[in-house]
Amino acid sequence: MQSIGILKEQNGDPRVCVGPMTVGKIIKDLGFTVYTEQSAGSQSGFSDEDYISAGATVHERNEVINKADILLFINHFRLPHLDASKTFIGIVNPLFHYNHLMDYMKPEINLFSLDLLPRTTKAQSMDVLSSMASLSGYKAVIKAAEVSNTVMPMFTTAAGTIRPAKVLVLGAGVAGLQAIATAKRLGAVVEAFDVRKAAGEEVRSLGAKFIEVEGATENKDAGGYAVEQSEDYLQKQRELIHKHVSEATIVIATANIPGKKAPLLVRTESVEKMKFGSVIVDLASEQGGNCELSQDEKIINHKGVKIVGSSFLAREIPATSSQMLSGNFFNFLKHFKLIEEGEVQNDPIVDGALVVKEGKLVNERVKSFLI
Ligand code: NAD
Repeated sequence: MQSIGILKEQNGDPRVCVGPMTVGKIIKDLGFTVYTEQSAGSQSGFSDEDYISAGATVHERNEVINKADILLFINHFRLPHLDASKTFIGIVNPLFHYNHLMDYMKPEINLFSLDLLPRTTKAQSMDVLSSMASLSGYKAVIKAAEVSNTVMPMFTTAAGTIRPAKVLVLGAGVAGLQAIATAKRLGAVVEAFDVRKAAGEEVRSLGAKFIEVEGATENKDAGGYAVEQSEDYLQKQRELIHKHVSEATIVIATANIPGKKAPLLVRTESVEKMKFGSVIVDLASEQGGNCELSQDEKIINHKGVKIVGSSFLAREIPATSSQMLSGNFFNFLKHFKLIEEGEVQNDPIVDGALVVKEGKLVNERVKSFLI
């Protein structure tokens, strides 16, 4: 019988990859033994006793790493010396942080990175990127409302009428659409940009206005993702965005291209046109940011405009994030086990996520980003 190890995050991330609510299913439905690192879920509200009640045993970190065949985690960490063969399943973003892969290039290691799963209907239940993007999009609006010096909805009061906030969403993918829906629920007037024409229909169906710049490059082989745009297009886009940014109270920037630097959409001069007290939340800050002034993991104040640089706002709602990740990890494990036991070759989901096999880089998508 194979065993699973649930690791505690090492970088202060309060989330846990698998919470106790899923441990029972891993044991009962999939037949694994589960070892959990001490305090793995403490910051998400799950105690060691919760894991024990669900059927896991709790150990110190090295013991879990030594005992388990398959180790589950979220963020990349420095691996200790390993004596036996191990499979690691995490979210290491190898398209952007390919330097992390060096740690896994040892003959006893297999690595699956769930951010590489194909964006297909079958893989949807395992899609950690969608889960976290959706929560980050929601939290970005809540954060902006908190930091902003004005209200979101229209207020009609005896003292007069307060106009609703104007929210501009850059990038209408998973995070952007959730940000639009959240801002609409809070009563803001919302408009959104994307380079993908298909996003227009989704934006309009949420009751927001879609703004587009003609001439975007699209590639049907990019798996639903955007591709890099020409400098000429980006320049046209920045000019149009300049006008909309200067009228917005809140900008939620989510535009990204997998494995590439995020497109620069908001220049300093556009920020300086915003009203005092306006807010930009830049969810693309890890990959360089959509706003020229964003600093990753920092909130700065530029001439009265607050700029929140954070690509990991889902971390600020760890109980929900961990619950969603638990579902994604469980669904991947279930599929992985079926494929392994059936000895099926060329499964697009398992092969899509497999990065390192017995110490060798085998993922074609990652390899293509290294060229
Ligand atoms: P992402 O995080 O890589 O990018 C966010 C958004 O930024 C995307 O909508 C992208 O088009 C946009 N963008 C990139 N460059 C831009 C620019 N210069 N200006 C404005 N916008 C720009 O993408 P994502 O949100 O993870 O998902 C992208 C696509 O994948 C969407 O079409 C989504 O519907 C699809 N998807 C499919 C599945 C599935 O079928 N299982 C799951 C998740 C997402």
